[in-house]
Amino acid sequence: MLDKTIGIVGSGIAGLMCGQLLQQAGHSVFLIDKGRRAGGRMSTRIRGANQWDHGAQYFTVRDNEFAQHVKAWKESGVVSKWFDLFPHQAPEKKEERYIGINGMNAVPQHASIGLKIHQSLCVDKLDYQDKSWQLIMESGEVFSCQELVLTPPLPQVVNLLNKSNLLDKISESAPLESVKYNKGLSLMLVLKSPSAIPSPGCLKFESEKVSWIADNSQKKGFPDQYCVTVQATPKYADYGWDKGDNEVAHAMIESIQELLGSEVIDWHIHRWLYAFAKNPLKSKFYRDANMNLSIAGDAFLSSRVESAAVSGLSTAEALIKSLK
Ligand SMILES: Cc1cc2nc3c(=O)[nH]c(=O)nc-3n(C[C@H](O)[C@H](O)[C@H](O)COP(=O)(O)OP(=O)(O)OC[C@H]3O[C@@H](n4cnc5c(N)ncnc54)[C@H](O)[C@@H]3O)c2cc1C
Repeated sequence: MLDKTIGIVGSGIAGLMCGQLLQQAGHSVFLIDKGRRAGGRMSTRIRGANQWDHGAQYFTVRDNEFAQHVKAWKESGVVSKWFDLFPHQAPEKKEERYIGINGMNAVPQHASIGLKIHQSLCVDKLDYQDKSWQLIMESGEVFSCQELVLTPPLPQVVNLLNKSNLLDKISESAPLESVKYNKGLSLMLVLKSPSAIPSPGCLKFESEKVSWIADNSQKKGFPDQYCVTVQATPKYADYGWDKGDNEVAHAMIESIQELLGSEVIDWHIHRWLYAFAKNPLKSKFYRDANMNLSIAGDAFLSSRVESAAVSGLSTAEALIKSLK
């Protein structure tokens, strides 16, 4: 074991991929996340017999290193291909879309294996003195490390650094502060009978209110319940953010009723304050070597699962090199 401890805030796919690579290289690593389960926005909601992917719906694979991980996940029965063309999409647009078997959250659960992760703990403040980081939880608990990696959505990272009086101490904070996120609204429906959504079980379009509908029962490993995920357009997510759940849900359902082809017998809403980065940075991650601080996640490259994973992996590779 090497002598430096690395603390990672966030057990989304960026934090997990970073943690795995660092641990494999012999570093002592811990992760902290305010959520109850690892995965962040790669989340699967289970309510009784019903189940929905209500965050990321699938992921694509363009990066060679990420492709090696996806190959291993495929061989371990963690992911499978969902489809490679949307209905009515031109053949040249063909691209494999992958999902976690039993739900997208299966991927981060697999990527968590062997890592020391403290879930349900929110990092409230940071302190950096004498080359050592202190992570102070809302609960008052304190964790220490020599290297820190922050992977929450960038506006949350900036807030945390700012309230810890550290934002003006890091080099080049302006690009970090420039990244903005769209809000998201996911509506989870239970239908009375099978949906009219054609194979492969999803429709992507631009209407005023809805941009995506997916029939979860058409995804591998999902229970045979009639559970549909509906995602609002960024514009409608903004509009509906402060409106009551009833108003938002009914307006969204009404606008897609024909496509559903069945009566809605129950629904739930999830609001994402930080769904997608609008203007991600071009670099793979941020590093301030003087502060022993790195920042990763989907605010780098593009706001997709793959980019978040690549950002985490690239951060780990840079750290492994610099800590040799
Ligand atoms: C509705 C929706 C649909 C999407 N669809 C797709 C899709 O189809 N395909 C695709 O590729 N991508 C999609 N995305 C984007 C994709 O989910 C993200 O890009 C990716 O999951 C981001 O991973 P991450 O590790 O960077 O961040 P996250 O998954 O957000 O992980 C960050 C973690 O940090 C934790 N955290 C934050 N603050 C603190 C704190 N103070 N203390 C402790 N923990 C903290 C959070 O709890 C979270 O678990 C979608 C996103 C949403 C919201």
